[in-house]
Amino acid sequence: MGIATINPATGETIKTFEPLTDAEIEAKLAGAEAAYKKYRYLPIEQKAQWLNAAADILEARKAEFAQIMTLEMGKTFKSAVAEAEKCAVVCRFYAEKAPEFLANVGVQTDASESFVAYHPLGIILAVMPWNFPFWQVFRFAAPALMAGNVGILKHASNVPQCALAIAEIFQQAGFPEGTFQTLLIGASQVAKVVEDDRVQAATLTGSEYAGASLAANCGKQIKKTVLELGGSDPFIVMESADLETAVSTAVTARMINNGQSCIAAKRFLVAESIASEFEQRMAEKFQALRVGDPMAPETDIGPLATPSILQEIEDLVKACVDKGCRVVTGGAPLSDLAGNFYPPTLLTDFDPGSPAHTEEFFGPVALLFRVNGIDEAIELANSTCFGLGASAWTTDAGERDRFIKELEAGAVFINGLVKSDPRLPFGGIKRSGYGRELSIQGIHEFVNVKTVWIK
Ligand code: NAP
Repeated sequence: MGIATINPATGETIKTFEPLTDAEIEAKLAGAEAAYKKYRYLPIEQKAQWLNAAADILEARKAEFAQIMTLEMGKTFKSAVAEAEKCAVVCRFYAEKAPEFLANVGVQTDASESFVAYHPLGIILAVMPWNFPFWQVFRFAAPALMAGNVGILKHASNVPQCALAIAEIFQQAGFPEGTFQTLLIGASQVAKVVEDDRVQAATLTGSEYAGASLAANCGKQIKKTVLELGGSDPFIVMESADLETAVSTAVTARMINNGQSCIAAKRFLVAESIASEFEQRMAEKFQALRVGDPMAPETDIGPLATPSILQEIEDLVKACVDKGCRVVTGGAPLSDLAGNFYPPTLLTDFDPGSPAHTEEFFGPVALLFRVNGIDEAIELANSTCFGLGASAWTTDAGERDRFIKELEAGAVFINGLVKSDPRLPFGGIKRSGYGRELSIQGIHEFVNVKTVWIK
């Protein structure tokens, strides 16, 4: 697939883009390097002022940006507006907090004075996915720019207008030319950018395959990476949980972003004693969701972003059915609609060889497992290769403490859905990636932690 805007709700190709040539990439890198030499030494207050200006633009033009997101990847317009607002929040957060996060930290040693300083690295490459086309970029860019780095973005090929709009926001906010640039390039052109000596580090949010490929290239060049990859997050409901709140939250946790979120709950591990009730209530709530035009205010679920994602989810559901699972609701594409629509689907009673145990279901499909007791819940929760987020529902303090200690995940949320918050670190373990975004940990990923010793 080339670089193009294709409306997922209709299949219509709206606009196509030519990928940058080698000469154009060179010009962008030269611009970034020139910008970095000056930008890194500008006062942090100046950087904060520009980042707050970016937040102002995001808020003032949120409807316009939301329209582009919905047009290119199919999320509901209302959720796209919320995404633009959240980007403003992360900008304001780092504008305010970066001076504190990057302040020198004194250490007593045999020196007259010694301290740790946080200095920028240079050009950072961000390879980003389409699923939160603004949020994923801003949560990288806000801390990276505050730390004095400059950013280059290779966005997913199906969201080029989002990518261009983001670069325009930074420019209009006042950041000097070259501080943040979009490279409209295909995945095959990334390796060359990584190999360029001026690029110091890279981050990728996306699939395991893409992450491994980027990290391998960066490894050859001895360049640091942060990887935010896939997940098959468990949502565990114990007998003591408030069932109605748990079911309602489970529906939101699974259906967020039309089911295409790395931290969407994907596997629902429910205590045997309440599982039938949970199943029935979840199915009823799924059936009440309105699937359709993502621009319409009443729509809950829009189309999947691309035909290949639709195909992938169809294939996974079919493989589960072939292995003998039970379809509680949904389970077949909505062929009367022109776009990439798939209905909210609930599957249960899986064969041990089913992909439900191993694969990431990146669409509106919930997998319900019955568990007998906490040991079985934890064992099943930890049984995938992923380790992004985990949500556990219980009012028992002993169970809560075991979930916190024993769940193999970058985040454990008790009695709540897993979400990103600028104040808290975000990232995974195992094949969900490494490194952290957001919070103080996020801004420290792309800095030179410099030891200073003075006699
Ligand atoms: P993807 O195919 O890996 O694409 C992500 C980005 O990587 C795109 O910009 C893509 O460019 C690029 N890319 C693909 N192959 C590459 C390669 N060999 N080398 C360098 N770059 C490459 O992922 P996706 O299917 O669009 O996104 C869904 C995945 O992202 C899911 O697994 C989801 O869980 C994960 N995700 C993780 C997080 C997190 O924070 N952990 C957040 C959101 C999504 P092209 O578009 O040009 O191919």
